[in-house]
Amino acid sequence: MTECEICGAKIRGHPHYIQIGASKLRVCEACARYGTAVTEPERRKSSFSSISTMGARRRDMYQMDIAIEEPVMDDYGRKVKEAREKAGLRQEELARMINEKHSLLRKIENETITPTEEVRMKIERVLRPYL
Ligand SMILES: [Zn+2]
Repeated sequence: MTECEICGAKIRGHPHYIQIGASKLRVCEACARYGTAVTEPERRKSSFSSISTMGARRRDMYQMDIAIEEPVMDDYGRKVKEAREKAGLRQEELARMINEKHSLLRKIENETITPTEEVRMKIERVLRPYL
């Protein structure tokens, strides 16, 4: 029932919760290494969409909070995809070059997850001429 949010595998036993960029993910043991371990899922970010229902003061607090988060990677996944296609690489080829799972790269390109600094640097090292 519980599936890993990175590779999609069924999670046996207790899931691991990790943070990758601004995303909190429930993952299997094998994928736990992709992010920073967190003890439990944090609900704060997922309530983001309900900001409009809160008072103005609360909204200000949220905006301040958001402002100190790492910068939002606008269109990062799309840029990676375009650069990869310009480079003539398939997802699995690029994934192999940066030593990451195909499924991780697919989620980055779909903007399902924000890649860690380490993964971003690896991607940019390969695709820099095309970014
Ligand atoms: Zn997994």
